Amino acid sequence: MKLTILGSGTFFVNKEVSASAFVLDMGDKKALIDCGPGTILRLSQAGFSFKDLDYIFISHFHPDHSSDLFPLFMNYNLSDIFSPGTLTKYPTFYGPEGLGKFMLDYSNLVELHSVEGYNNVKFVDYTPEMKIDDFTLKTFKVEHKAFNLDSRAYALRFEIDGKVIAFSGDSSKCEGVQNACKDADVFVCDTSYPSNQKVNNVHMNTTEIAEISQNGHVKKLVLDHFYPSFSKYDLLGEVRTGFEGEIIKAKDLDVIEV
Ligand SMILES: [Zn+2]
Ligand SMILES: [Zn+2]
Repeated sequence: MKLTILGSGTFFVNKEVSASAFVLDMGDKKALIDCGPGTILRLSQAGFSFKDLDYIFISHFHPDHSSDLFPLFMNYNLSDIFSPGTLTKYPTFYGPEGLGKFMLDYSNLVELHSVEGYNNVKFVDYTPEMKIDDFTLKTFKVEHKAFNLDSRAYALRFEIDGKVIAFSGDSSKCEGVQNACKDADVFVCDTSYPSNQKVNNVHMNTTEIAEISQNGHVKKLVLDHFYPSFSKYDLLGEVRTGFEGEIIKAKDLDVIEV
């Protein structure tokens, strides 16, 4: 399997850094994980088409993880209108509880009433353990309370052919993210803050990332979700002081073997 980093950043998108998003290529099936600003462009820059995707998973609704979701949906909807019969498959969109309503409300907000009555794309809410085709997805509610508002945020753990690939989504240090990364072959982790910053209940800092990754016996840790304000910090070096496994600092369009 291959994991392509589409974006290693957040809201601050530029030509080097797009918002946090990934393609997990399982061989015969492809999953997009998160879909913030820049994701559709990066998808094509990485050599993929929206037509390749079998599954789309979002960790939570914050726009740095979801803002390209509706435009991506429109790729399928408009393909059926402009070129009917040309799409050979459609992805299923998976997300936190209320995903279908989120898309419907969004379509109303932007005055593009394309979701209601269009059934080729399905929206499915997460349950704790989901058997999807040949793999298992386990979802873990995590604590991520930005601007004092609880978010429906999840860490995702894919178990595929004996391999475990986990994604923290945006998460503070909590039981959910600790369970998600247990014995992971690859753990992609929100690395928002350096060790000298502490913002409770929102994101982890590098000290906390090292703790949960070390406790979880993670084999390969991929750091992502970087804010430009902290670019002067050696985030990888800080995690290194408390974690013995392999560490990779994500760069857009890097490909990681799983
Ligand atoms: Zn968030
Ligand atoms: Zn985020």
